[in-house]
Amino acid sequence: MQDCLFCKIISKEIPAEIVYEDDRTLAFKDIRPAAPAHILVIPKKHIPTLVDLQAEDVELMGHIVLTASRLADKLGVSEEGFRLVSNCKEAGGQTVFHIHFHLIGGRQMQWPPG
Ligand code: 5GP
Repeated sequence: MQDCLFCKIISKEIPAEIVYEDDRTLAFKDIRPAAPAHILVIPKKHIPTLVDLQAEDVELMGHIVLTASRLADKLGVSEEGFRLVSNCKEAGGQTVFHIHFHLIGGRQMQWPPG
């Protein structure tokens, strides 16, 4: 998608600190980390929001969650725990309209989120 920030990170038009990449997924450090560990895990396929998911994306979403879990291990936060969250549309706090999962860890999380 031409005007999508995360598509530009996928195509390397915009630099990012990439921590993992495969044919379907990219993971990179959030530019404004909310915790000691803050990684964004995204599909390479441009899907704007969770509402736009189709049945054909089920395997892809499973792959992303598994990738996040493995990355949490690599980052050293799987033992103590972490948060995996995806904001959907404006009321959900989404600011970049390309599905992404925030992998956040390295500190105690609070609930409910703001
Ligand atoms: P959202 O608010 O949509 O759930 O999350 C978007 C995230 O993307 C935010 O945490 C924000 O800090 C991050 N972000 C925005 N622009 C950039 C960028 O250019 N590079 C990186 N690495 N992260 C970004």
